Parts: sequence; C-alpha cells; structure tokens
Amino acid sequence: MDHYKTLIKNYAAPAFTAVRGQGLYLYDDAGRAYLDFSTGIAVNALGHSHPRWVAAVQAQAAELTHCSNLFAIPGQQKLADRLVAKAGPGRVLFCNSGAESNDALIKLARLHGKRVNGAEGKRFTVVAAHNAFHGRTFGGMGATPQEKIQGGFRPMLDGFKFGRLNDIKSFEELIDDTVAAVFLESIQGEGGVFPAEPQFLQELRALCTERNTLLMLDEVQCGIGRSGHFFAFEKSGIQPDAIGMAKGLGGGFPIGAIWVAEAYAELFQPGSHGTTFGGSPLASAAANAVLDVIEEEELIEKVAANSAPWHAELKGLAEKYPSQIDCVRGAGYMVGLALKPEGHNLKVTAAAREKQLLIVPAGHNVVRLLPPLTATQEQLNQSVTILEETLTTLANTP
Ligand SMILES: *Cc1c(COP(=O)(O)O)cnc(C)c1O
Repeated sequence: MDHYKTLIKNYAAPAFTAVRGQGLYLYDDAGRAYLDFSTGIAVNALGHSHPRWVAAVQAQAAELTHCSNLFAIPGQQKLADRLVAKAGPGRVLFCNSGAESNDALIKLARLHGKRVNGAEGKRFTVVAAHNAFHGRTFGGMGATPQEKIQGGFRPMLDGFKFGRLNDIKSFEELIDDTVAAVFLESIQGEGGVFPAEPQFLQELRALCTERNTLLMLDEVQCGIGRSGHFFAFEKSGIQPDAIGMAKGLGGGFPIGAIWVAEAYAELFQPGSHGTTFGGSPLASAAANAVLDVIEEEELIEKVAANSAPWHAELKGLAEKYPSQIDCVRGAGYMVGLALKPEGHNLKVTAAAREKQLLIVPAGHNVVRLLPPLTATQEQLNQSVTILEETLTTLANTP
C-alpha cells in the first residue's frame, strides 16, 4: 500500500482506510459501515461524533485552543474539580496520553520514596504485575514485563519488580524498604482482560498502607465508566493513593491525567514536572463534554444495567462454541473472550470485520469487545449476533 511509503513501519498493515465515524459506526472509504466495538482502543467513550461533544470542541476551538500552563485555564480547573469529586480528596495533573500519565505516577513514586527514606535513590522500586501493559515510554515499558514491548530497547529504566496479579503473597514477598509503590491496572487490558479481584485489591491496600508504599492504579483503559463504575477499582471499595487516566477521558481528543491523594499531592512542586500541551483549553473542553454526557445520559448506570444480560449472552456463546471459546472475562463494556486454538483471536477479529463488526485482539489469545458507553442493549445484542455468525463461519471453514 502507498500508505507505507513515508510512514515508519511500527504498525501492522491496516485493515482498511477509515474516513468517517457516526455514533456506533465507523465508515471505510468505500462507504461500508462497521459496528465499532474497537472504539479507537477504548477511547471513543461517547461513540463517534456525539453532537454534544462536537459542539463543545467546535466552540472551544473558536475561542481558545492552547495557551500552555503559563496561564490559568478555567476548563482545566473545572475538569480537575470533577475528577477529584469522583476519586476523592486530592489533586490532578494533566498530560496527553496513557503512557505519560504512568510516567508521572512513576515520578510520584520516586518522590514518595525520597520523602520516606530521607535520601534520593534508596527507595524507588515500583512493584508492577506480570502480564501488565503500561505504555511505550521508558517508564511505561519498564513496568511492562513483556518481551514484545521491551525487546530491542534495553537497558530498561531501573527499579521495577513484578508480582503475579491476584496472588497477594507474590506482592507481600516483594515489598521491602526499597519499594516506593505498587502499580497495577485495575483490569489488565492489553494483557488479555484480567480483572484484579476485589479481595486481592483490599489485601494489597492494607499491605501498602502497612509498609508505607503507594498504591497506584492504572485506569487508562478500564476507567471513565467503562467497567460500570467511574473507576474500575470502585467495585472493591478501596481507595488508592494515585490513579492514571487517559483513553476514554477525552472521548477521542488526546488527554491524560493523574489524580493523587491529598497526602501525596504536594510531592510535586513548581518545576518538578510539566508538559507543554497538558490540559489545554481544547483538551479540557473535550473531557468536560465527555463527563457532561456521561452524567446527563446516565451512561454509567446504563453500562452497569446493560452489561449483565450482554455478558450472559456472551457466556451462552461460549457454551455453544466450546471448541472456539474458552471463557468470557471482564466488567461492564470491557469484555474479553479467551479463544482457542492459539492464534484464533486474530482469525476471529478478521472474520468479524468481514461481517462488519470491529473488535480488538489482546494477549492470551483474547478478543476484546469495547463498545462505546452509549451502546444500547439492542446494539450489544447485534454484536452477539455477528459474533455468532462469525464463529459459525469459522467452524465450517477448515
Ligand atoms: C493504552 C494503555 C496505556 C498507554 O496509553 P497511550 O495513550 O497509548 O500511551 C497505558 N496503560 C494502559 C492500561 C493502557 O491500556
């Protein structure tokens, strides 16, 4: 494809050319409409071109797009207030992506370690989880113990160790006085949709408090309503010390954020961290519009209500096609189907696309279903119908 003449080849060849999005549908250059349960990898929380979001972004673009953090930005302050109202007493720092949020969290861990130890460079280890994904910067990669992410780029950033998700003993053994923070996805996304169990998070919370170690949660993919709660960790009833956000927050406009609990929020002082673009007027307007629509359309309540029957339908598919589906995992509108045999996730993704349903492969032979929070019961059911046709077709083709 000509497409590749001047683009660096860091992505696999694309399946088609996307030209337009409307609601639940993404359109290719031939005008074909696809039911989009890929949502730009859990980004388009309101679907494509939600009229409220478009109006807010257009109006802000005409008013003031960017001015940097040299100046106060009212929309950014409003957004921070709203995130604090969701997360708890604390403060927010804005950036532009998931990896940048996570890098800011790793910097927070180092500042915490320095404060606790009294000296720099003694207590800086971050304990993350095997099978995690935290992004492609050196901070994010360091916390992502996967050969396909780290290979070719070593040496990694110093100071990471890894426990096993949902195995509290494996974390207990690692948290000594060199550890500044524990860092986890509340639901592992890229790794194959593995939720952290509530009991594990509760025990980890107690352990981190006891050992004066930060508990930092990566909600970049599972946050902003996708799980049926605003943050996925809410199901466990715990309170983390810091949270990373991005993907769904801007509804398609790049923005990332960290929330930090009051006790640690002053670790960052003027000059200690920053970004040129973070929390621009335009990005803040996009994110405020996402939160407006989530509230006005009661989307989180709808995700919680609609997902139960949808998950039941998907589990029904697993029972009907045991030679192709191993199990169904996830929460709300973040669902993984673990498939078999090996490599079947790529086949199912391609075959579903032929039937005009877009889904996303993930680790452990999984396909992810990531509908926008606006998806109705009927549209969820439509995904099940298309998946069933896809599985039937694949069962009948050797
Ligand atoms: C996507 C993702 C990231 C990285 O976000 P980018 O915006 O691509 O940098 C980090 N953590 C999790 C859990 C993610 O899903």
